Amino acid sequence: MGKRSKIWLKTRKEFLEENRPDHAGFFCCGICGLPVHYTDMEVDHVEGRLGERLVDKKNLQATHVLCNRLKGSKKVAPKVSETEKELRRTLDL
Ligand SMILES: [Zn+2]
Repeated sequence: MGKRSKIWLKTRKEFLEENRPDHAGFFCCGICGLPVHYTDMEVDHVEGRLGERLVDKKNLQATHVLCNRLKGSKKVAPKVSETEKELRRTLDL
């Protein structure tokens, strides 16, 4: 396994420790805004994964596997703002 892969796996793990799903195991998909269960979830790079972006946790979001596939490497503006995500976390929605 390459060095970048190892660093990425570590970053992904940290991201998931800092961004917990709700009590039922759901994250909020950063692409479509709908709940995404952790078993159907991928950690996506909002603006690509080159250089430092690979391990910038602010550049990461939980997404549906399918949403991530449809998005490819294009940048898609998130439908859910950071403020709303925070609010949802606080209210445990
Ligand atoms: Zn989605």
